Formats: sequence, structure tokens, C-alpha cells
Amino acid sequence: MTLNVLAQSDPARAKEVLSEPLGFGSSFADLMVVMRFRDGSWETPTLEPFAPLSISPAAKVLHYGQEIFEGHKAYRRADGEVVLFRHQLNAERFNRSAARMCMETVPVPLQMQMTEQFVDAVRAWVPTDPESTLYLRPTLLGMDSALGVSASKEFLYLLLASPVGAYFPNGFASVSVVVEPELVRAALGGVGDAKTGGNYAAGLAAQERAKRAGFDQVMFLDAKEHRYIDELAAMNVLIVRDGALLTPPLGTILDGITRRSLMELAPMLGLRAEATPLAIEEVIDDARRGRVTEMFACGTAAVVTPIGTLGYDGDRFQIGDGEPGPITTKLYERLTGIQYGRIPDKLGWTHTVS
Ligand SMILES: *Cc1c(COP(=O)(O)O)cnc(C)c1O
Repeated sequence: MTLNVLAQSDPARAKEVLSEPLGFGSSFADLMVVMRFRDGSWETPTLEPFAPLSISPAAKVLHYGQEIFEGHKAYRRADGEVVLFRHQLNAERFNRSAARMCMETVPVPLQMQMTEQFVDAVRAWVPTDPESTLYLRPTLLGMDSALGVSASKEFLYLLLASPVGAYFPNGFASVSVVVEPELVRAALGGVGDAKTGGNYAAGLAAQERAKRAGFDQVMFLDAKEHRYIDELAAMNVLIVRDGALLTPPLGTILDGITRRSLMELAPMLGLRAEATPLAIEEVIDDARRGRVTEMFACGTAAVVTPIGTLGYDGDRFQIGDGEPGPITTKLYERLTGIQYGRIPDKLGWTHTVS
């Protein structure tokens, strides 16, 4: 497979954009990949200018949310090489999300080839500043122009790239998180484990409520008992209890590649790692008694976000001393070390873009 190249990237434009503060996801590389599924097959993907789309106002995606996406990153190493991190897992998850939302899957090798060719074409957009990256956003949209509620037969695949700055420009810092008592993000049998737009829209009201109450983020509980930790709006949750790394099991949560990678790294740092249901009352009791010493959220965007304060039932609880804990910090450094090539990648998690 080769992308049908309809435009070239402008390195001078990239240089200009990268010289300004980047933030997260607000500036974009000047090219994107576009691929259409029509008449039962995928057409040749094109590399074209990043520009507004023309779509039918009746497209299913606009009315019924038939949409999925992925998020991963290209990292610039000190030697100038650009690498991808476990991107096969993103391609596989993309297809699990697509299947759940009744959408056409994109063969994993095709996704991986498009990603590599695209990143090579927009290489100048991969920032060089410490902890900055080129964030990649594959997206799939249901395109049938019809208002009946049914699965689309036409799809539009997009691959966008956004240069992003360090998530913590002032260094690794703890955030405050409030446990949402009423609203839920996902129920068993629903779509919580699919990366689909509606999940994020469903979380916004609770996120706004958390902000108004003075917290940085919201933590959701399970939909049935309102008792077990689910995840944040877009990040998985891990805790350190009695020196072991624990995280809620899969089911309603998104199968995060950061979560999975940290759980796999833990034994190499001498930590036991286990996926097990975490009842919020017990976690708070254990934090009070000094058994739960660290808590953090994780995901591709911020990698690891230490949680220093937990709001629950009108009270605020400090986790550990409220600062990023030693295990949290060690895991963050180990994972980002592998991604940026500061630590040898013995696990074969990174792939150099050629
Ligand atoms: C993307 C996402 C995550 C994190 O997954 P990573 O693969 O680690 O980036 C966690 N939770 C939700 C709901 C997500 O959408």
C-alpha cells in the first residue's frame, strides 16, 4: 500500500508553528490521510491538505454518533529519530471499537502502513522540545446520508496529527479528582470499552460539575452499585496499596495501552501488579490508614497524572503526602524513558519510522 500523495508538507510552516507554545490538540500538521469505504471496499488512501470536510448534513455520524477514534503519539528522540509506541495495539483497539459501533474495520497492517507513511510525510511536525510529541488521531465516521437509525454502509477514515507540548510544562504535579456520586460514564454491556465520541459527551456534565466544585478532574463509579472505581473521563486509574500496583479490571473501562504498559512494567520494578475491583470506600479507608499510598490516572495524552487529593461525599482526602509518589514517579520515568529512547527498549515496544 502507498498513499496517493496529493500534497506535500511545508517544513517552514511546521517550524513556525513549533516555535510557538503548543498546548494540547489545537494546532495541526498541514496534511491528513483520507480514506473512503464505498461499495463494499476501502478506496486508496490519499495524503491531502488538512482542511475542512464537505459532508452531507444528514450523515449518520452527525445524528447518531456513529464514530470512533484512536490516540497515540510519534516521539522525537535525542538522536533525531522518530518512533511510534506499540501502535499495533492502537490499530487492534480501533477495530474492536469499530466492530462494537457496527462500523467497517480497517485491516491492522493497512493502519500501520498508513501511520508510518503519514508520520514520515509530516516528520517536520514532530516537536523536539522535551516531553513534546506529535499526537496522532485516527478517526472513523459513519457517512450514509439518511435519517433512519441503522448502520452506515459508507465510512470515512481520517488520520490527523497535532503537535503537542509537554502536558506538565512546570514539571510533574498532582491534580485533584472528585468522585461523581450520580452520573456514570458506562454500564456493563454498553460502550465504555469502545473509543467512541458519545462516551466523552456523556462525561462532560460531570466534568463541568467537578470544575465548578474546584476539582481538576472527575472519577466515575460503576453504574450498578455506584461503589467501584471505573475511570476518569479519558484516563484509567491505578493505585498503590501495600506496595502493589492495582487497577480496576476490564469490562466498562477503556483497555488503555498506558495502563497495560505500566502493569507490565511493574514486575520489572519489583512490584506486584493486579487488576481487581476497587471499592471507593475501601480505597479511602486504606488511604486514611496509610495502606493506599499513591493514586494516579494514566493515558497517552498525559502519560501519568498523579492524584494528590480525592473528593468524596463532601470531604477531601489526601493521598500519601499529596505530592507525586515514588512509585508513580518511577513508572512515569521508566515509560517515558522507553518512549524517548533514554532507556533501552528491551521489550520491543517502539518502532522507528523509516
Ligand atoms: C484513550 C482512553 C484511555 C487511555 O488509553 P491509552 O491507550 O492509554 O491512551 C483511557 N480511558 C478512556 C476512556 C480513553 O478514551
